[in-house]
Formats: sequence, C-alpha cells, structure tokens
Amino acid sequence: MTRGPDGSAGPVAGPSGADGRPAWEVLDDFERFSQVDDVFNRASWDPEVATDEARRFFASYREPLRSWRNASGFGQRDYAIRNAAWQVVDVFAEMHDADDLRDGFLSPLTQLRDGPEERFDLGTPEEAAATVKQVARTFGADLVGLCAHDERWVYTERYARRADEGRPVGLPEGMTSVVVVGQAMDRDLVDTVPSALSGAATGLGYSKDALVLLATAQWLRNLGYRAVPSLNDTALAIPLAIAAGLGEYGRHGMVITSEYGPRVRFGKIFTDAPVAHDRPVEFGVTRFCESCRRCTNACPPGAIPSGGPVAVKLNRSSIGGVRKWSVDGEKCFSYWAQIANDCMICMRVCPYNKDFSRLRHRIGRRLAGTRLRGLMLWLEGRIGYGKRLRPRDWWAGRDSRPT
Ligand code: SF4
Ligand code: SF4
Repeated sequence: MTRGPDGSAGPVAGPSGADGRPAWEVLDDFERFSQVDDVFNRASWDPEVATDEARRFFASYREPLRSWRNASGFGQRDYAIRNAAWQVVDVFAEMHDADDLRDGFLSPLTQLRDGPEERFDLGTPEEAAATVKQVARTFGADLVGLCAHDERWVYTERYARRADEGRPVGLPEGMTSVVVVGQAMDRDLVDTVPSALSGAATGLGYSKDALVLLATAQWLRNLGYRAVPSLNDTALAIPLAIAAGLGEYGRHGMVITSEYGPRVRFGKIFTDAPVAHDRPVEFGVTRFCESCRRCTNACPPGAIPSGGPVAVKLNRSSIGGVRKWSVDGEKCFSYWAQIANDCMICMRVCPYNKDFSRLRHRIGRRLAGTRLRGLMLWLEGRIGYGKRLRPRDWWAGRDSRPT
C-alpha cells in the first residue's frame, strides 16, 4: 500500500476481508483520475457514451419532457418533484455557466467573501475538530468526519464542458485537511427506485449538502482559514469518506455508513485549519459483502462484480491501480440513460438500507458484523427487505414494506 505524495496520508481503508486485505487498497501502479474521464463527462465528448438516450437523460433535468413513460413513478408529477428537489443545487451549478464553470460538479462552490488575515485560535487539534463538527452539524450535516488532505484523490484536471477540454483543478497549495460531510437520503423516496420519484432523494441530498458546505466553509474563512467547499468536483469523495471514518466500502461501490447504510451523499471542504483527523471504521461490512450478492443480482445491466476485490481498469472511467470492487460505470450510466433517471436499485436492496433508529435493525447490524452474518442474510430474504415501495403508494401515503 502506498502513501500520499506528500507523505502525510496513510492507508485509506483499515477494515479488511477474510484474507486480511482491505476492500479498497492502493497499489504501486496507482494512477490519479482525470475528471474528463468521468462517465458523465464522457457523455459530452465520447461517442461511445454520448448517445441519444444520454442526451435525453440530461435534458429531462432541465426542461419538461414532452411525454412520460406509461409506468408508475415515471409520470409528470414524478419528474416534477425530482427536478424541484434539484433546484437549489441547480442554481449554484448554473450560476457561472458563462465562465465554463459548473459549481459543485465541475468546479468548487463559489464563495463570495474573503476572511480576515488574522487567524482565530481554535485550540488543540482535537478541540478544533470537535468545533468544526459542531458547526457543520448545526448547519445541517447528518455526518461529519475529518481526514488528512491526500493528493491522490484530487482530479488531475477538471472538465470544462463548453471548451470541451481538461483544465487545472486550481485547488490552492497548502491544504492539510478535509472536512467530509454526509447528508442522509430519504429512505422512502430511495425505495421507490426505479422511478423518477426516487431521484428527488438525490436532488435533495445535493441541495442540502450545498448549504452545509458553503456555510461551514465560509465560517472557516471568517476565522481566517482557507476553505474550499466541494460537491462532486475537484476530488473523489469515496476514499476521503472512508479515510474520515464515515463508513466502509461496499461491493456496490458506495460507502456504507453505520447510521444510514449506503443512503448518503458526501461533500467535502479542503482546508488548512489545524484539526485532528478521524480514522477508518470497521463494523463488518467488508466481510458481509464477501457473503452477500444482493446488489450484484439486482443490478439490471450487470455492472456490479460478484467476485472478490481486484485491481482492474474496466474502461477509461475506472480508476487504475486500486484493488477494490469495481462497478462498471459505462454499464451503470447506460441504464440511467435508458430510464432517464439515476438508478439506486443497488442502494435499495442493500441489507444496510435500514432505519437504524429501530432496535431490531441495530441488532441486525451488529449480527451482520459477526459469524452470524449468513443467518442475517437468510433472514433478510425470508422477511423480504429491499422490496420496492410502489410510487403510487408513496403518493397515497401507503406503505406495505416490512418494517
Ligand atoms: S445504480 Fe443501478 S445500474 Fe448502477 S450499479 Fe447500482 S443497480 Fe446497477
Ligand atoms: S447489497 Fe450486499 S454485497 Fe452489495 S453492498 Fe450491500 S451488503 Fe454488500
């Protein structure tokens, strides 16, 4: 396992599988990733991805569809609520379009005010970390973790869509830490997937994230520190969320948190505030995923692997030199384009997609991290968790899912 180029960052993932190796392991042939190769950006420039369906997918977020699918969850009211949930983050994303910036997606969120020269003393690194978490939670963060800044996860270049070219990311030198924040996604909405209705959970997660990131970063700036708020832009969020102790890496390529399972959207703030860092957590996810294949079996385009973690670059949208469960982004996005909505079927069926305010699910989570994980998996199937909440039932306020 390698260390970051600045030597400051250790292993990303502490949790390990049956072979003692972590589910996310950086190898010596690691290559940093360019945002130009992100599959969403390839939908702008790569004929292999830029299909008519992909164009229809993006257009469906910006303009009313002329017709809706004759399927529950894909009607006018479903697209209407989805696009309304994206409104806040859309405003930021389109604010600097003329400058070929896309705040929160292809460039950091823009801050309007500089801070003072003099820095406020936040106390010891541990005290500073506790204060940062308190403030982020006050602004609405559901989860907050801190990790060392690690150049490995910063994109080699950002994508400028209008110019159709890669440009420097522009992250200032001297960042030492990353504040990783997570927003829980609405479980009822997620469980209606596949549907346009479910996309409201994604839009809401991003919109809420934008508020927390902007406000927390501005607070740090008001104290004299540098802070760059970032959603999907600038760097990969998953390894940072793992390093910040917010969860473990799952077979479906998402971070599984102990609080909300995989139903979390992450954002991050790069800063030079002197804060203590969290450590990766382990509550048995890696071992559980080795036994479970629910996401693999449920994925319509077969994008999720069934074997163990491997170092494989599936296509140019995969990161090279990382041994992990690799989801095929091309197959995944082609399905999103087909249904004109983001798909979260793997999130819905994941046994960690539960309401952990209930005691029985907290007990189940504990058992999933023990040798009784096979029993847990069997019980999951018997009880019927992971079933779809029918969109028409969501609209009617009905719910027939097992609790
Ligand atoms: S989001 Fe849907 S298509 Fe993509 S990996 Fe998950 S189940 Fe498969
Ligand atoms: S569905 Fe099962 S295998 Fe897939 S991420 Fe969740 S626990 Fe792991």
